[in-house]
Amino acid sequence: MTGGPIAVAGVSVEPGERRDIAPLASESYTGDRTTLPMAVINGIEDGPRVFITAAVHGDELNGIETCRRLLDLVDPLRIAGSLVVVPIVNVLGVQFGSRYLPDRRDLNRSFPGSHGGSMAARIARLLTEEVITGSDAGIDLHTAANHRTNVPQVRIAEDPRALPLAVVFGAPFVMRAKLRPGSLRAVALERDVPVLTYEGGQPLRFDTDAVDVALRGIQRVLARLEMIDHAPEPAVAEPMVLDASRWLRAERGGVLELHVAPGDRVTAGQPLWTTSSPMGEERASIDAEAEGYVIGATTLPLVQPGQAVLHIALPGEHVGAEDDPTEEEDEEDPDVTEGN
Ligand SMILES: [Zn+2]
Repeated sequence: MTGGPIAVAGVSVEPGERRDIAPLASESYTGDRTTLPMAVINGIEDGPRVFITAAVHGDELNGIETCRRLLDLVDPLRIAGSLVVVPIVNVLGVQFGSRYLPDRRDLNRSFPGSHGGSMAARIARLLTEEVITGSDAGIDLHTAANHRTNVPQVRIAEDPRALPLAVVFGAPFVMRAKLRPGSLRAVALERDVPVLTYEGGQPLRFDTDAVDVALRGIQRVLARLEMIDHAPEPAVAEPMVLDASRWLRAERGGVLELHVAPGDRVTAGQPLWTTSSPMGEERASIDAEAEGYVIGATTLPLVQPGQAVLHIALPGEHVGAEDDPTEEEDEEDPDVTEGN
């Protein structure tokens, strides 16, 4: 069935048309317009409405490249339904390579936002009202925070609509993670919109593998929703669906030698890492306490006591078994917020 025109931020987009728009989000110190650029693609055929967002954290760049490559692939004459792609949500954070907005606010704690609030609240409000609300599904692209890397993984809420989409996405891991108040994913779910949060790679760089997994995953989700005809075959037979994770922290400071790699399965008693003093003396050797999967890791070669070293997903635990304040998508960066 042929679809009708759709309107985003007051701009009408006809079936078979793509329009790149830049609605006003706020103003800079100099009074220049701060806009939220996005591509609105309205397919010829009727179908679901899906949004893709990236760089809600301004130093998480993989999603920007994913969106650029996605937009090269999508033809409004050949899709059903509509797609709204926002390659850079935190337009100000990206300018300065910063996770946060210039006032140090975390945009992913600022949803649904408000008209008269902070810069973060205004950007969040625009995205919530014009892009998230009324969508049938969304995919929000992230990377690990500073000095860490994430194995490609999809995080979802306890939502029966999200799980099949997360599985078909085809990343190696699906994490059923708790929702944090003020996050894009939580506010979308309040508006009845299931969102997949993709995490992959490191901040401030393009990680080709993480971009590839994201791009193929988005195509598979769109194919599952019958918006496109075909998508690349999944690289993994079946993602590992896990309900709990925890960061393991260094007990001793020094030079870090990891004995496992991101993505590895570990078993109880397996050596995970050794720390040594710069003089060569071995200070601590840490073994795995239980079976798990390495889903994230530090990228720093030196550690201090308490520093997060490995993010281990644990099979067989219940959702919310641990309130882990370092969960990437949701964390307040402990290096920044402590002592403030
Ligand atoms: Zn993030």
